Amino acid sequence: MRAEIIAVGTEILLGQIVNTNATFLSKELANLGIEVYYQSVVGDNRDRLKGQLEIAEKRSDLIVLCGGLGPTEDDLTKQVVAEHVGESLIQDPLGYEKLIDYGKKQNRALTENNFLQTLILTNSQALQNPTGLAVGIFYTAEESQTTYLLLPGPPKELQPMMVQSVRPILKQVYQESSQLYSRVLRFYGIGESRLVTELSDLIATQVNPTIAPYAKENEVTLRLTVKTTSEELAGPLLDDLETKIQTRVGNYFYGYGEDNSLVKVVVALLEEKGKRVTAAESLTAGAFQRSLGELSGVSSVFPGGFVTYSAQTKIDFLQIDYTLIEEFGTVSQECVEAMAIQSRKLAQTDYALAFTGVAGPDELEGQAVGSFWIGLASNEGVSSHFYQVAGNRETIQNRAVMAGFELLRRELIK
Ligand code: ATP
Ligand code: MG
Repeated sequence: MRAEIIAVGTEILLGQIVNTNATFLSKELANLGIEVYYQSVVGDNRDRLKGQLEIAEKRSDLIVLCGGLGPTEDDLTKQVVAEHVGESLIQDPLGYEKLIDYGKKQNRALTENNFLQTLILTNSQALQNPTGLAVGIFYTAEESQTTYLLLPGPPKELQPMMVQSVRPILKQVYQESSQLYSRVLRFYGIGESRLVTELSDLIATQVNPTIAPYAKENEVTLRLTVKTTSEELAGPLLDDLETKIQTRVGNYFYGYGEDNSLVKVVVALLEEKGKRVTAAESLTAGAFQRSLGELSGVSSVFPGGFVTYSAQTKIDFLQIDYTLIEEFGTVSQECVEAMAIQSRKLAQTDYALAFTGVAGPDELEGQAVGSFWIGLASNEGVSSHFYQVAGNRETIQNRAVMAGFELLRRELIK
């Protein structure tokens, strides 16, 4: 069962709208166990759409078209498909009735082109539109058995039609009971190339489940996907592969799921253990605390903290001895440890993170751009860690924030 998606619309080619329909449809089809081999976009142009259909019918069993079902001149998907498969266009009685009804309710005369929206192909199945007027079409060509699925362009019409009408039909028609089950593993502190190298033999021999690595900012994820008939069967297959992966790179693993992050994992751990954290930020100027603030309900684990960018605010806000700063400088182990200890004491939390360093572009106190210290104070005392990273200000600050969260996470799972 090979499917492809053709989005019809010049707007997409011009970059005026994003082709979110393709994303949505791909996900839907994957969940039904239907493999999408191609996605393409073609403008509102008769010949080019026809050309695309000629290519598609040679390689796909199911051709999903979206867009161009409307009443205007540039909406020509139905017309081109009808011509291509040798069917004519007729009114769908249900859609027609709904349109007449709509005209009455709106109290205005319908123009002739309005009725283009309710045309369907002869020998096709009409798909009613719960949120609009254009009727969708499900059509299987008798000889080739190629199926054409025509859906409206607006996502708020396409999505309900897909869910309410198309899903049941596809389930019935392609009684392929196997589906895709996925598990996402998230890693911090290891680059994509290292991760892939560590797993190279697993990746080279993958069939079912498959392993797909994705590099994101500051982290790498692995999506394990298995195609099988039930969740009960999928679980052990995914467990088995995950165990192999964890044995090799488990040290860098921090959590599961598509919608997850290092910050979320840390906050969840703090909540679970009933612990609170504060921060004293020089280098990052509040970015660590800002990341915490992005999560709702974080006040139970984060009462607040300090942004002490200058030497003077380190002295004033955190009551750090000025002789310490004079002697060691602000970018120093002594300073970062004092910042962590003092902020923890003042905010009365279980943990405190402190950040000081050189974000650039100029060096500071004779220290290179990208060098920084992070301190972590807890009831066991204080520890400090030195980093040297490459990048611009934003990258350096981001790296520091993430490194801070990772230090805290490791402390919390100790
Ligand atoms: P209408 O009846 O509104 O004309 P239509 O079925 O003819 O619907 P189009 O004219 O192609 O569809 O697109 C209408 C609108 O739907 C676009 O302006 C855009 O907002 C949205 N749209 C179309 N195609 C896509 C797509 N691939 N991804 C996301 N949105 C889309
Ligand atoms: Mg249109």
